[in-house]
Amino acid sequence: MALIVQKYGGSSVADADSIKRVAKRIAEAKRAGDSVVVVVSAMGDTTDELIDLAQQMTPLPPSREMDILLTAGERISMSLLAMAISSLGVDAQSFTGQQAGVITDSVHGRARIIDVTPGRIQQAVEGGAVAIVAGFQGVTQSTNDVTTLGRGGSDTTAVALAAALGADVCEIYTDVDGVFTADPRIVPTARKIDRISYDEMLEMAASGAKVLMLRCVEYARRYAVPVHVRSSFSAHTGTLVTDATEEVEGAPMEQPIIAGVAHDRSEAKITIVDVPDVPGKAARIFEVVAGSGVNLDMIVQNVSVASTGRTDISFTLPAADGAAATAALTEHQPDIGFGSLQYDDTIGKLSLIGAGMKSHPGVSARLFAALSDAGINIEMISTSEIRISVVTRADQLDEAVRAVHTAFDLDSADGQAVVYGGSGR
Ligand code: ADP
Ligand code: ASP
Ligand code: MG
Repeated sequence: MALIVQKYGGSSVADADSIKRVAKRIAEAKRAGDSVVVVVSAMGDTTDELIDLAQQMTPLPPSREMDILLTAGERISMSLLAMAISSLGVDAQSFTGQQAGVITDSVHGRARIIDVTPGRIQQAVEGGAVAIVAGFQGVTQSTNDVTTLGRGGSDTTAVALAAALGADVCEIYTDVDGVFTADPRIVPTARKIDRISYDEMLEMAASGAKVLMLRCVEYARRYAVPVHVRSSFSAHTGTLVTDATEEVEGAPMEQPIIAGVAHDRSEAKITIVDVPDVPGKAARIFEVVAGSGVNLDMIVQNVSVASTGRTDISFTLPAADGAAATAALTEHQPDIGFGSLQYDDTIGKLSLIGAGMKSHPGVSARLFAALSDAGINIEMISTSEIRISVVTRADQLDEAVRAVHTAFDLDSADGQAVVYGGSGR
């Protein structure tokens, strides 16, 4: 008998009929003899709707209250799903993150899991029930306050529970058939990847492929949890995310140079103009930004103009953190001594990911040629061992992704990638 953790995303439980459909699927897995623990997201776009509501109260809601509000979404879906499963004659009990033993630090809005003590879940499963756990939420040890794990956090709840329970597999059910070579909403000819390494999936997730949350992939790699990403709307086998060296029967690791193309529309660019080109200024700028709790992504410093001894520094950051970073830098403008600051949230980021690029020359040349042929200007570039990222204008991003996907021969010959549901929000 296997222990399976299944996670159903918002689009899989968007309305009453969807919840009933998912309940049938869970009941079937249970009747087949497996022990089943389910992690569920809020229905459809509930989380976004709750955020919109909060913003009507105040533009900057207190983060503690925000977390209490948002965790309500998952509590609605977990109890409805338990009712639907029970109505099929299968025992089911739902649990909040706190009841499930998901312990986090106290950083509201993006808390990290520090421990999982799933005693009540184990009890429920041993008693023959399906345990349903509210995704995306936990509780702090110090204050007992409710926390959330950041957008897409139910993926992380699922993998963390799978690790703590020693589950055989963590199945992530979503609205597409697996991880594709690009977002099927943008590239209909994207190909489903049968098997991908944790490392490549980490870069894909970090570069905006929101099919899996970054933190969930980090967790899966650390605890060696095999993750199966698949659709709740079809019976197709999806994508297995595992260690590159592990032998998995029937799922050979694909070894192409390029795994896929990811895109990210959620970043903004800050350019600090006329920075004195002397030691210590960059350090000061990034201290100030870090002090405002903001994580940077790409950084570019221009060659300084010899006659002025001044230079420009640009960096990208999550657009959601734009106001905080801009305010902190403006406050320190006199002591840093820069001329002015430009803020631009109409950028897009494209990333090409593939473990094979380590040992294959010419990947960057092919990428830049594809973008230039499509008439797309590159504003910033950054690389890792297995990734090349470029910043473009936001309104050219989709076209850029399609051009690069084609240039690297990633288009599938057999039919179009299906998007079964969801608003893509
Ligand atoms: P869920 O509600 O199930 O958590 P998400 O919206 O978080 O679903 O993630 C699924 C979506 O991820 C897909 O609908 C797709 O638009 C998007 N996506 C982005 N990049 C990829 C990719 N490379 N492969 C598959 N889906 C992707
Ligand atoms: N409901 C949360 C969100 O929309 C968590 C999740 O779906 O994973 O981000
Ligand atoms: Mg998600």
